[in-house]
Amino acid sequence: MASHIVGYPRMGPKRELKFALESFWDGKSTAEDLEKVATDLRASIWKQMADAGIKYIPSNTFSYYDQVLDTTAMLGAVPERYSWTGGEIGFDTYFSMARGNATVPAMEMTKWFDTNYHFIVPELGPNTKFTYSSHKAVNEYKEAKALGVDTVPVLTGPVSYLLLSKAAKGVEKGFPLLSLLSGILPVYKEVIAELKAAGASWIQFDEPTLVLDLDSQKLAAFSAAYTELESALSGLNVLIETYFADVPAESYKTLTSLSGVTAYGFDLVRGAQTLDLVKSSFPAGKYLFAGVVDGRNIWADDLAASLSTLQSLEAVVGKDKLVVSTSCSLMHTAVDLVNETKLDAEIKSWLAFAAQKVVEVDALAKALAGQKDEAYFAANAAAQASRKSSPRVTNEEVQKAAAALKGSDHRRATNVSARLDAQQKKLNLPVLPTTTIGSFPQTVELRRVRREYKAKKISEEEYVTAIKEEINKVVKLQEELDIDVLVHGEPERNDMVEYFGEQLSGFAFTANGWVQSYGSRCVKPPIIYGDVSRPNPMTVFWSTTAQSMTSRPMKGMLTGPVTILNWSFVRNDQPRFETCYQIALAIKKEVEDLEAAGIQVIQIDEAALREGLPLRKTEHAFYLDWAVHSFRITNCEIKDTTQIHTHMCYSNFNDIIHSIINMDADVITIENSRSDEKLLSVFREGVKYGAGIGPGVYDIHSPRIPSTEEIADRINKMLAVLETNILWVNPDCGLKTRKYTEVKPALTNMVSAAKLIRTQL
Ligand code: GLN
Ligand code: ZN
Repeated sequence: MASHIVGYPRMGPKRELKFALESFWDGKSTAEDLEKVATDLRASIWKQMADAGIKYIPSNTFSYYDQVLDTTAMLGAVPERYSWTGGEIGFDTYFSMARGNATVPAMEMTKWFDTNYHFIVPELGPNTKFTYSSHKAVNEYKEAKALGVDTVPVLTGPVSYLLLSKAAKGVEKGFPLLSLLSGILPVYKEVIAELKAAGASWIQFDEPTLVLDLDSQKLAAFSAAYTELESALSGLNVLIETYFADVPAESYKTLTSLSGVTAYGFDLVRGAQTLDLVKSSFPAGKYLFAGVVDGRNIWADDLAASLSTLQSLEAVVGKDKLVVSTSCSLMHTAVDLVNETKLDAEIKSWLAFAAQKVVEVDALAKALAGQKDEAYFAANAAAQASRKSSPRVTNEEVQKAAAALKGSDHRRATNVSARLDAQQKKLNLPVLPTTTIGSFPQTVELRRVRREYKAKKISEEEYVTAIKEEINKVVKLQEELDIDVLVHGEPERNDMVEYFGEQLSGFAFTANGWVQSYGSRCVKPPIIYGDVSRPNPMTVFWSTTAQSMTSRPMKGMLTGPVTILNWSFVRNDQPRFETCYQIALAIKKEVEDLEAAGIQVIQIDEAALREGLPLRKTEHAFYLDWAVHSFRITNCEIKDTTQIHTHMCYSNFNDIIHSIINMDADVITIENSRSDEKLLSVFREGVKYGAGIGPGVYDIHSPRIPSTEEIADRINKMLAVLETNILWVNPDCGLKTRKYTEVKPALTNMVSAAKLIRTQL
């Protein structure tokens, strides 16, 4: 019985690649230094998998930045602006595409399916020339072979590559990107020929777009592509790997009848329908790579359950054609649990990071082959049982309260326009009120204070004094700038999810549980392992302290339940919506405590609500329903006179505008400055919007300082489609990553622009 791993994290157990990249980019180390770190990481990963007994070990899943960009390099599809003149693509051109350089901006980056990983979007057009320009796949295959490991080279599949690309600037709208298949396949053929010559016997094409809703024209591209590649591929075993969801029935038919393909990889964790599809029709004589070990999470596999799934598949596809695998690349989980020395033993026994998942895959394969490691399986069963019964996981009271929410509706009693009137009587704000999103610049000094307090190097008293001083500074600044609704600046927060997770029960934190987000950037999501409750108020002290420093309204600042959920590793022993409802109840208590403490405006950020949207349209309605419901639960019992704000970090919400309206917040502030037209077109098309809305008037992601005229111009554009009395004036997002030298002039101009337009109304 064989085992396979779809892909492996590149960063290294201690983020070695991150530090090597950043040092290279800063000019502090050489290209050879960087290559050395990368070579060592690859070698240790291959060795680790080989030692564990994995039969099909992937190569070319390493990347200096991103696997889609690697494919762009392989195809020589370098956009013109990088002035690349041909030949093998080196670090210069590669990193310029990834990060931009002094004169040319980077290529666009976007989310990889529903993960928190971001890939570099290929920019293609009718004039793109494709030439074989990066031998990385072949080199890595040879490199592993020289170490004695015969790997399965992994390529981004040609059809997914095109489906994930976009038309380059200036290319006519509606240009059929799939028509470029005939341009890229010759390069794929060259790569395949070289891999064969180097001795490869297997090849893996990642075609994850097969899990999306594809029309028949797109499906036809898969048939055409693999028919075209068939002769080049002859003599190789060809695995088409899919992940992140099941393959829809129509696509499954296309996939399983592709020419020249010998094996199919499926995500059996998220692929709810896949088992049924496989059981009802799986092509005779083909391999099934069964992704039973979850690559998207940090939980130890329930080995007994996986084993029984695998046994049921054995009967369908045949013993020698079943391969145990991961549900997707392990790059979406943390690297190695051995580095978690601070997690307590009980919680640790419930977890498996990438290194441990490799061992699980191998143990399952061995068990199927009749060599079950009884001790290993028994320890796993004991951990599963302890997770089910641990008092740290279950809180009856929370379970009951959350269960009671299902099926019922939670809304504020009064409609939004009446509430806004009631609030205005109390708040007495000018038209076009100004505000900011929450955080103010986080200086080195501020980070030092937080770090030292955490490490117990300074006392609580010293810490509180320092944070109070910071808040006072931010409050005074906002008063000087004459902003209408103030924020405290969030100096006590390192991260908008971690800050709350640390104070809620049911959360655990890792020391090294990093997951690549993009390039060298990694995130360390909290782990939600148990029922969530809020033992004590979390923000009331800081918010009331800040409010006491000013007579202007001070916004209470919270992270919403959906965002906390979507930016964490979530427990897999109950549906996500149940965990979300529990978090909603905890945040509800906080909202009510803030109100009771006299805070009149409370912002509940839902930065990641849209991110959680399922891949397939049929599942959108269900998700949006419970996500929006969770948000409403947090503030359904608040007085009419308390103003609830929410904030979202994207403007691309045209498709979910009705859900956003259904959140029933009094005011929403949203990103907008990078795509004015998109957002405003929703309203131009006649969507009725009665609540307050603050489309960001300038981009905080750039150090550029917008002029008063420019901001005024933006506001006027918005006024053309939105009622004057609902429009707010604010930046795009929090100011945490900016410098005071940027923030002060930018906000000065923002307030002047609002004042200027007020005089013109
Ligand atoms: N209130 C948060 C801040 O200003 C919101 C951050 C976000 O939307 N990502 O930092
Ligand atoms: Zn934001």
